[in-house]
Amino acid sequence: MDTMVKDKAITKELDVENIRNEFPILSVTVHGKPLVYFDNAASSQKPLFVIKAISTYYETVNSNVHRGVHHLSSLATDQFETARKTIATHLNANPDEIIYTRGTTEAINLVAFSYGEVFIKEGDEIIISQMEHHSNIVPWQMLCQRKKAVLKYIPITDSGELKMDEYKKLLSAKTKLVAVTHVSNSLGTINPVEEIIALAHAKNVPVLLDGAQAVPHIKVDVKKLDVDFYCFSGHKVYGPTGIGILFGKTKWLKEMVPYQGGGEMIKEVKLEASTYQEPPLRFEAGTPNIEGSIVLATAIDYMNNLGIDAIAKHEHKLLDYATEKLRAIEGLKIVGQAKYKAPVVAFNIEGLHPYDIGVILDQLGIAVRTGHHCTQPIMDLYCIPGTVRTSFSFYNTIAEIDTLVEGVKKAIKMLKK
Ligand code: PLP
Repeated sequence: MDTMVKDKAITKELDVENIRNEFPILSVTVHGKPLVYFDNAASSQKPLFVIKAISTYYETVNSNVHRGVHHLSSLATDQFETARKTIATHLNANPDEIIYTRGTTEAINLVAFSYGEVFIKEGDEIIISQMEHHSNIVPWQMLCQRKKAVLKYIPITDSGELKMDEYKKLLSAKTKLVAVTHVSNSLGTINPVEEIIALAHAKNVPVLLDGAQAVPHIKVDVKKLDVDFYCFSGHKVYGPTGIGILFGKTKWLKEMVPYQGGGEMIKEVKLEASTYQEPPLRFEAGTPNIEGSIVLATAIDYMNNLGIDAIAKHEHKLLDYATEKLRAIEGLKIVGQAKYKAPVVAFNIEGLHPYDIGVILDQLGIAVRTGHHCTQPIMDLYCIPGTVRTSFSFYNTIAEIDTLVEGVKKAIKMLKK
């Protein structure tokens, strides 16, 4: 296994103990035990830097954007648009290619509708994969039903990697879009996105990457990737819920129809018909999540201050350690053993249901996720009811993994009695 740390020898070490002090929730107790939070792939915890930015916004800035002539409104607009620039810089995009959404799910739905309305017709094909989150399956199923288009799936191997030879075979003159996850939320697999994009572009096919599980762990450069659409969620990168980002290349955004109608996205409204703003505002109908947008940029600043490479180095250490320790437990099988992985270790224990293990771990203060993790097709493919998924962040420690391993052993003993 490997992550994307460029030079492990020179990347700085994180001061994890001090970092933990910046996350108040990490000191709570659960059922009388210190919290061990290993559900980071579902949602990350927030540092004081982010929490305080939310109250600062409401204490000193709160107002609507793009509308008022008064001081607070221009302050809010200024911070809202500055945040867009910060996020654009983080992804190496232009600010007018950055659309605020409610999250990854809404970003994908936006592309499925707004790109789909213009570019997809009967008989066209869209390629996704068998390892997608439901958020990157259902919008395409809905689009294909609406347009009588065909959805094709890249199959995956037993270890949880995309079968790239099959992908090559699926690409054809009928393909109008490829939409795959950058990192799998249930398996941890980091997909070979550069190759996926190069192969699609060789056939003039645009690519959307679901970056919900990548942006928390990997430096993403949309220009270098040459990706057409990229999306992620604020709450997984130490920011608020209800805010996310869609990056889209201007050449596509300019052609796409609005996703929703209403305020902010119009140029002129007449009783007969209306005209629309240029992107990105064309896709931001109604009062946006102003506080969320501003504080998402704060969260990104926080991550950049720690350093993405330093984050990845620490998380890689946790991933390796957890993989080794968990694998040594008798009857435990890791689900998702790709060569390149983000810090996710999902597993099952012979003869036990993942839910029962999750409940016992919770009693021990350890937060893990159990179930299908919104990737039911993976579970069907592997003929399992679900998994126990542990997912790590830069604020987790080796000692916490030891607690997890002891907890799993205890759960086995109790359940196999
Ligand atoms: N895609 C992936 C890979 C995810 O892991 C998730 C959330 O877990 C989503 C999409 C959906 O994100 P959200 O619920 O924030 O829209």
